[in-house]
Amino acid sequence: MRSLIIEDEARLARNIAKVLAETTSFAADISTDGEDGLHMALSQAYDLIILDLMLPKIPGLQILRTLRQKGCRTPVLILTARDASDDIIEGLDRGADDYLTKPFEMGELIARCKAMVRRVYDQPNPVIRVGDLRIDTASREVTVQGRRVILPAMEYRLLEYLAMREGQIASKTEIIDHLYDFQSENFSNTVEVYVSCLRRKIDPGPRHELIHTVRGRGYYIGERKS
Ligand code: CA
Repeated sequence: MRSLIIEDEARLARNIAKVLAETTSFAADISTDGEDGLHMALSQAYDLIILDLMLPKIPGLQILRTLRQKGCRTPVLILTARDASDDIIEGLDRGADDYLTKPFEMGELIARCKAMVRRVYDQPNPVIRVGDLRIDTASREVTVQGRRVILPAMEYRLLEYLAMREGQIASKTEIIDHLYDFQSENFSNTVEVYVSCLRRKIDPGPRHELIHTVRGRGYYIGERKS
């Protein structure tokens, strides 16, 4: 999952990105003005946008309207000043999915972000089960046949992304777009490396493969398609 934080208070933006990195599997990009933020939102494949409303160059409500007019379906959580109920109503009416008023508890922001992404991927249950595999997206705990599997951050991120889209093929480009932020190195061959590491750890045996390769198209997790 990949998120975009459009927030001109640089310290707050960095803090949100840090907490997202520590407590979720979301990659995070930061933009500190409205013009740049709108451009990023329209040009990258984000799973979630956190949008401050008071921004230099282009205000948040205008960004929101433009995104929705251009058909962008990414869930947007707006950040507003306290006592700005007109802004909250207008934001929701223009297509925001959720809001928080400043100052807010970081834990509440994170929980709302995770809930929005679950809705987008139609996974209302934070615990995803695929065959013998169980992924608790709240605690990031993974078990296979009841056995705990410890995964490095990027392998977990890939697994959660595939599991959220269970049964659907994800191309290598989609995987790269949704897993890496601008800070990460993104060498496309690392996707194969992560997939093979994951397989070694979560596939219980050759007859019980969970992650499948579709030649020339990508990867998916779930029951093998004939
Ligand atoms: Ca602001």
